[in-house]
Amino acid sequence: MPDVLRGAGVSPGVGAGPVRRVAGGVPEPPAGDRHGGDAAAEHGTALAALEAVAADLEERGERAALAGNRDGRDVLNAQALMARDPGLAGGVRARVEEGVPAARAVFEAFGVYREMLAGAGEYMAARVSDLDDVRDRAIARLLGLPMPGVPESDEPFVLVARDLAPADTAVLDPARVVAFVTEEGGPTSHTAIIARTMGVPAVVAVPGATAIPDGTRVLVDGTAGTVRSEPSEEEVTVARAAAAARASALEETTGPGATRDGHAVPLLANVGGPQDVEAALVHGAEGVGLYRTEFLFLDRAAPPSGEEQEEAYRKVLEAFPAGRVVVRVLDAGADKPLAFLPAPGEEPNPALGERGLRMLRRHPDVLAAQLTALARAASGLTVKLRVMAPMVTDAVEAAWFARACREAGIEHPGVMVEVPAAALRARDLAAEVEFFSIGTNDLTQYTCAADRQVGALASLQDPWQPAVLDLVAPAAGAGVPCGVCGEAAADPALACVLVGLGVTSLSMSAPSLPLVRAALARHTLAECRRAAAAAREARTAGRAREAARAHLPGLAALGL
Ligand code: PEP
Ligand code: MG
Repeated sequence: MPDVLRGAGVSPGVGAGPVRRVAGGVPEPPAGDRHGGDAAAEHGTALAALEAVAADLEERGERAALAGNRDGRDVLNAQALMARDPGLAGGVRARVEEGVPAARAVFEAFGVYREMLAGAGEYMAARVSDLDDVRDRAIARLLGLPMPGVPESDEPFVLVARDLAPADTAVLDPARVVAFVTEEGGPTSHTAIIARTMGVPAVVAVPGATAIPDGTRVLVDGTAGTVRSEPSEEEVTVARAAAAARASALEETTGPGATRDGHAVPLLANVGGPQDVEAALVHGAEGVGLYRTEFLFLDRAAPPSGEEQEEAYRKVLEAFPAGRVVVRVLDAGADKPLAFLPAPGEEPNPALGERGLRMLRRHPDVLAAQLTALARAASGLTVKLRVMAPMVTDAVEAAWFARACREAGIEHPGVMVEVPAAALRARDLAAEVEFFSIGTNDLTQYTCAADRQVGALASLQDPWQPAVLDLVAPAAGAGVPCGVCGEAAADPALACVLVGLGVTSLSMSAPSLPLVRAALARHTLAECRRAAAAAREARTAGRAREAARAHLPGLAALGL
């Protein structure tokens, strides 16, 4: 194994520690084996394992809640209920009485539930994987195998995984995880977004990462995108010193976002709910540029009530009395499946299927309830509430959404520009709504026809692709305020280029704000414009990056 593995650095900073890998799947216990004959004892063993799993999940849930992650606790408590389900225990007993060993009996009893869930149609895949997780934990206990999922550790560690799902990370303690490394995932994967939100350094798309043996000490540089095995003390010290120097350079730049010559560019935070507000405030966000409301709807069999929605929205709105909060209505489908809004049928290409606004047009009642809750949440507050729709393609859809907003009392509707058609015909959409927010994650995915969930396509998911920049330009020039809320806004050099293209605000995970603020403050608007023009003239993403940097001399002082 080479000393240094390379991938895409997606969350800045340096972390060093021993590797702990997310254990892989638990093998299926073989069919046809028989237990020793004592069915009562075998059943007792199986029940004890299930109870231990339930207790462990509840305990993790309590820890998640203590760390402020109540949604994580709800997911884990729901899993504990599955482990204690009396019907499941009955299924295990019936099999054990036929001579089936405990582990196999558990496997088969869960299988019945699995089929029921899948057949019920209204449950999302994540529900089935929650069930599989409970099953695998019980089988691992019964067979003495390592526990699947995120490992337990008393000392700080570097978490290495093929990829991380939101459920894996619900109980992560940022004080324990010093860095993330994943073999798959791109700059816009969940791992990347979660790492930035938690402020943990991360490198994704690292070939060979999961082959690093457990316990190996590694140095992860989330800015350079490197993972060095068994670094010397000196290497760790040098890397930490460079990171610290950058951190202090950042502390010097505070206040609202602006270029060196005073062109204001409001810097906003991307949040998933009230739990992210504190980080946004700490990093000086001037408001919220993307409130991803689907986090409130995840793992639910029915939508949250109007009151529950109103409360969650109000908590975020209240935090920015003098600012703005841009709320995105439910973006269900594709990479964000929701239990109560299943895809209407088998979709061969979910990313091109019924997702975002397309899904809401099928379920106007869900949209109306959300918009009403938003209007109520904002009533009496001074914050500027803006509401936008995801995955909008044309002016007909934009007009439909604007009408739905106004009917619910929302005065400032907007749309995300994520589909190339919307960018190319931005002027048509601008006639219908008051603002745009470019979702560069999806815009890049659709421009380059490269599924953002496929790690092997990371080089095509690069928002520096000149074709993507060519689509930003018409959206930014269509005559309505146009922000960027995709991960591109968090790249300090690209942030300058976006401003040069005419983008009027930038929204990102809160920990990325200081570096972007500092990068803008070190360049004039004219420099940003020259960098943008040079990037668009380049023929490849790599060249675009280099060409832009040549016009952004202030980046070097930030160690970029
Ligand atoms: C985007 O597509 O750039 C975006 C901000 O939305 P999401 O990442 O939630 O799809
Ligand atoms: Mg998107």
